[in-house]
Order: sequence, then C-alpha cells, then structure tokens
Amino acid sequence: MAHGLVKRESVDWEMHKSEDKSKTFVYTKKRGYDVTRNPHLNKGMAFSLEERLQLGIHGLLPPCFLSQDVQLLRVLRNYDMKKDDLDRYVFLMGLQDRNEKLFYRVLTSDIERFMPIVYTPTVGLACQQYGLTFRRPRGLFITIHDRSHITTLLQSWPEKDVRAVVVTDGERILGLGDLGCYGMGIPVGKLALYTACGGVSPQQCLPVMLDVGTENEELLKDPLYIGLRHRRVRGQAYDDLLDEFMKAVTDRYGMDCLIQFEDFANNNAFRLLRKYRNKYCTFNDDIQGTAAVAVAGLLAALRITKSKMLDHTILFQGAGEAAMGIADLITMAMEKEGIPREQCLKKIWMVDSKGLIVKGRDHLTHEKERFAQEHPQMKKLEDVVQKLKPTAIIGVAAVAGAFTEQIIKDMASFNERPIIFALSNPTSKAECTAEQCYTLTEGRGIFASGSPFDPVTLADGRKFYPGQGNNAYVFPGVGLGVTACALRHITDEVFLLTAETIASLVTEKDLSEGRLYPPLNTIRNVSFKLAVKIVEYAYKHNMALLNPEPEDKEAFVRSLIYSTDYDEFAVDSYRWPEDAMGVQSCKL
Ligand code: NAD
Repeated sequence: MAHGLVKRESVDWEMHKSEDKSKTFVYTKKRGYDVTRNPHLNKGMAFSLEERLQLGIHGLLPPCFLSQDVQLLRVLRNYDMKKDDLDRYVFLMGLQDRNEKLFYRVLTSDIERFMPIVYTPTVGLACQQYGLTFRRPRGLFITIHDRSHITTLLQSWPEKDVRAVVVTDGERILGLGDLGCYGMGIPVGKLALYTACGGVSPQQCLPVMLDVGTENEELLKDPLYIGLRHRRVRGQAYDDLLDEFMKAVTDRYGMDCLIQFEDFANNNAFRLLRKYRNKYCTFNDDIQGTAAVAVAGLLAALRITKSKMLDHTILFQGAGEAAMGIADLITMAMEKEGIPREQCLKKIWMVDSKGLIVKGRDHLTHEKERFAQEHPQMKKLEDVVQKLKPTAIIGVAAVAGAFTEQIIKDMASFNERPIIFALSNPTSKAECTAEQCYTLTEGRGIFASGSPFDPVTLADGRKFYPGQGNNAYVFPGVGLGVTACALRHITDEVFLLTAETIASLVTEKDLSEGRLYPPLNTIRNVSFKLAVKIVEYAYKHNMALLNPEPEDKEAFVRSLIYSTDYDEFAVDSYRWPEDAMGVQSCKL
C-alpha cells in the first residue's frame, strides 16, 4: 500500500493521503483489542468489514455495521435515562474514554445542551466529587515531589505533537476554593471544549495537574481523595516546580506550545502571568480570558445603550483575578476611544471583602493599588452603589446573592439601561439570578452571567435570553488561532481583539432578545472567525512563528479543524457479499 504523503501523526496512527490526494486514510500498526479499546482509533460498530479483517477485530464486534448517526442516537437515548447531571457527566466522560470521535460528535450535535455538563456548572460538582466519579486517569499528574524529573514524566506522555496544555494546581476551582488534585476536572473539561468549540485536535491537547498538596481539610481526610495528602507546599519549592514545568514542556513541544493557566489562586496567578507572559506562549484564562468575554459583553451592551465605554462608571464586586483582568481590558478599550489612562482608571471602582478600594486603605496588594480611588472608606456594597451611582456593576467575588433587591432597584433608578453582570460561578454563587435582574428592572437590565440561566418571561409576556459570559467564547478560538500560526506571545491586544470580534458577531436580533453574546450553538463559528482574526493579526504584527505565511488564512485555519467524522483505515480489499454489508443508518 503506497499512500503517499504523511499529513499528521499521533502515537497510535498516521494520516496518509491517497496517491491522487483525493482521500485521507488512517494507518495504524495496532491490532485487535489495542484498536477497539483505544479511544482515538475505536469506532465501535462503525468499522467496515475490510477494516475489521485488516485490524484483527473481526469477531470482536457484533456482526452489524452502524453509521455514526445510529451510534449518536444510542448515546442520546442512554443519556436521557441518566437521573442527574453528575451521572450525565460520568456517562460522557466514559464515552470520551471509549470512542473519542463519537464523544465529540455528541458534544457538537448540541453544544448548548452538553456544555453545562462537561463545563460549568456540572464540572464544578464533578471536581468536588472527583474521588467518586474518577474512572480512568486522563492527562498528566505532576507533583511537587517530581522536581528534577518533569522531563521524564513528560516523556511518558505518548503524543509527540502537543500544541496546547491547560494546567492547574487546583487551588481556586471556579468559586469553590481549594480542591487540590480533584481540580483536574477543569483542564480536562477546558480541553474538551478546545476541540468541541475550537476544533483543535484532541491529540494535540494535554491536561496537567500540578499537585503541590491541598489546604482542604475535608479532602485531606477523604479516603477517596486521589491527590497528595499533605498541605500545600509554597515558596521557592513551588516556584522551582513551575519553572521546571514551563521549561520541560517547551523543551519537548517547542516554544510555541500554548500553556493556559487555569484556576490558580489569586496571588500565584498574577505572579506567574507576569513572570512568564513575555517568555512563553501563555495566558491565564481566569484573568485574561475572563477579561475578553466580559469586555465583549460590555461592548455589545454599548450597542444597546448607544454609548462609549468611556461614558460608563463601572463598579466591581470582587477585586481578584477576574476583576483585575476585566478592569485592565476596559482601561485598554477606553484608551483606544481616546482618553488618557489616568482618566480611565477614575471610572473603575472595586469593592473587595474589606470594602471599597480607596487610597491608603489596609490590605491593598500591588494589583489593587492600581485601582484605589481618592475617596473616603466605605464598607457595604449597597452604600457604595447608592453613592457612586454606577452605570454597570460586575459581580466576581463568588458571594451568592450579593446583588440584593435594593441594589438592582437602585441601578434601575439611576440608569435607563443598567448593566448588571453576575459572573460568579457556579450558578450557586451568582450575585443574582437572571429572573431577579429582569423583574426588578422591569426588563431594562442588561444582564450577563457566568453560568447559564434559562430564558425569563416577564408578566407582560416579554421574553429575555440571558447572555452567558462564558469563557468558552474565548479560549477555544484563541487556542485555535494561537496554535495555528504559532504565535510567539499572547499580548493583551489579542484579548481586546478577541472581545471586539465576539461583540461584532452579536446580531441586532440577539441584542433585542437580551443576548449579549452570539447564541451558544454558533460557538464553533465564533471560534473559527476569532482564530482567523488572530492569525491575521499575528502576521500583520510579525508575531507568528509559522513560515511561510499562509496566503488564504481562512482556508488555512479551516484545514486544521478537527472533524468528528470517522476516518477510513487504510486496508487491503477483502469482500463479503454486498447484501451482508449494508450499514445501518437512521434519520436524526
Ligand atoms: P479571586 O479569588 O481571585 O477573587 C475573589 C475576589 O472576591 C477577591 O478580591 C476577594 O477579596 C473578593 N471577595 C471575597 N469576599 C468578598 C465579599 N464578601 N465582598 C466583596 N468582595 C469579596 O477569584 P476570581 O478568579 O476573580 O473569581 C471570582 C469569581 O468569578 C468566581 O466565582 C469565578 O467562578 C467567577 N469567574 C467567572 C467568569 C465568567 O463568568 N466567565 C470567569 C472567571 C471567574
């Protein structure tokens, strides 16, 4: 069999093109159970007879040939029988372990339905229960005791061409706090969305848990806990681990391998971002990804209020990673509108657990200092809202119900169209519900949340579709664009470009229905458009390492997108009678 050019390869297979280049085949040396029990290769009863014979699996499967559509139907029927979301999560993860193409076919068949299961809010619950839901390990577990050996551990990872790593140390999982090694659910879930929403090939993605211990007493006592059973190691040893990890990843996979930081605690998140952002191809999703999605929502909101960013006074409840990231990007957006930075900063206010952030106050970190205002101290959010009369409030403190009835009503009394973003995750931590926002503002509130809320119908019949400021609008598309052109560093301009691109994809109809983001079921298109913009930007600013520059950037990005269709295996021909080989298909 001569199949010509090798297109892509993984540890399990190689992609070959036919001689006339019209067809692509998968070639593997694996046989028997090594094929059917390998999620990258397995296609269950969708293997053809020729493939079954050639791969040594004839007889290991029932003698029926099913199309992927029928397999999808089977999965959906099973899925409907599950009794709660955690069961659905476990079921989907099981599918990912058995048949990867089918798993992504399921996710992409109705992304709006499945995203809340593989991502927030259910992934939060899954992380809390990781000891229970744990079936098969996925990703790489590196501990503080593996220092000086990370290169060896990375060699154990079978894939040779990793383009995107998502790493966590599990210290601040969503708004749920320190979940230690249970936090691995987050990189796994995020990377599932890299593929489902962004089209990055799953073989090119690597989830990593850096286990340095946990402060979570319950986990330390939990017999099912899967992580190191001691308190967090901090200081120099921690920093050395991170330094070694960054170097080992880029030594093995190249300086253009994207490393996304996820759910690190505040102090480490800022520090590590500052330390690595100009050295590696890296970003922190909680700071920069959140910033892009929140600013995208604000830019869309400006189309409703017919105003500029610099016309707004924005108050944050919370002054952590999310708040700082968003505030920095708002500042950039205002500067772009033409006012100096000092003036921008005067329009951004923050309340943390100690009250309003003002000059001279105690407990001001370097990050908070930048947003400290000349103003007397104030403690309560309600009082701050009354005093400042903001045009927008953004909740990112994981304090459930922080936007009280009084606050929402006040916002509605100061503003024709108050902007109210309740971004804390998971749903149980939201500052207010979509219903509270729309009812208390008589439908005038411009609302976005971190976790999904159902549409709300007011007593007068008006129906609103709350915007979900979901980072999934950002990181899969950024991941695709950055890895496509091998972007050297990911600058803040990339995130402002991201916010502008997402906002530009919101239609007037979306806005009229209350949506500040494109509908979730269009997210693959959003990621694609975003990736193309990033590739164009990278070449324009000499930041792309990939040479030569692709002429047609759209076609180039499209050619990289992972397909959920099964590949044909390269086999020698061997035939059964035609009538015995009919493939069972169905109309979905
Ligand atoms: P963080 O730990 O860095 O920051 C939390 C901040 O809240 C800190 O500044 C803390 O001082 C403040 N805080 C705590 N209690 C408070 C109180 N009672 N009153 C006022 N402030 C208080 O966490 P983070 O990364 O900024 O995330 C915060 C929340 O935002 C989480 O729930 C997270 O899930 C959510 N988030 C949402 C999105 C999104 O919707 N796309 C993205 C990122 C983060």
